Amino acid sequence: MFRAIFILLIATAMHGASAQNGAAPGVGFSIIATAKLDVSEALVYSGGSLGRQVRTNFSAFLVKHGESVFLFDSGLGANIGKQYRQDMPLWQRPFFKYDDPVTPARIQLERAGMAPINKIILSHAHWDHASAIDDFPGAEIWLSAPERAFATQPKRGVGAPWPSQVAAPSINWRTLEFKPVRYEGFDASLDLYGDGTVVLVPLYGHTPGSVGMFVTVDSGKRYFFSGDVTWHLSALKQERPKFWAARLFVDDDGDQTGQSIAQIHALMARDPGLTVVPAHDGAAQAALGYFPQWVR
Ligand SMILES: [Zn+2]
Repeated sequence: MFRAIFILLIATAMHGASAQNGAAPGVGFSIIATAKLDVSEALVYSGGSLGRQVRTNFSAFLVKHGESVFLFDSGLGANIGKQYRQDMPLWQRPFFKYDDPVTPARIQLERAGMAPINKIILSHAHWDHASAIDDFPGAEIWLSAPERAFATQPKRGVGAPWPSQVAAPSINWRTLEFKPVRYEGFDASLDLYGDGTVVLVPLYGHTPGSVGMFVTVDSGKRYFFSGDVTWHLSALKQERPKFWAARLFVDDDGDQTGQSIAQIHALMARDPGLTVVPAHDGAAQAALGYFPQWVR
């Protein structure tokens, strides 16, 4: 009897510990929110309510596959203040900003006792996704070929990769090589580990070489990280583009972005079990929990 209670207590304690320290999964991910901003929904997508405030996150997504770990996007990094002052034009600042404090992914990983990351895959090279590249010196920074070309022409402003973030000659760029293999309605794909658990797809439009990522976690549940095709999930559900003025600033090719929205909208209708996670949707991300909690 006492032995059974003892085993029960140990099992309970172990379960509590694993929930708290987020014992790492085989394949899973964890959302590292580095900063946030509350904005009117009307500024997030066409048809959004002017009076409703929605939470916008600036996140990095930590993906684990066996012993391999990488970040999908880097969030805002330690040098975001300096980068923003250098490369965000004054007239764009009222529309494109973030709230302090910023807690970079690097700091959050260190606090959790995790080793620095040596691989980052960018959904695209915009300022709020590439900011933390220089927090991980020497790390491989992976982009699609068209996005890599886009990043070789950095310029100030919200619609381009920033010189302060992507111009350093020391950056260890790598190019994602998509294969002409159809996947979930996309023309090409890249199965990162060859087992179908982490699959990248081209999601061009918002930038010339944006990519999306499917992840199948330990439980068998599937997720799709849709980058900045839309900023929030409601826009994908309702098949709506960004607020028109924002679209002019940030979408490289509006028509192609619209096609990507339609494609993801159809995908969601086809597969209701798929959870779509836009890069900035605070509500969708809060529902999944934050680092050091894992989705597994
Ligand atoms: Zn973007």
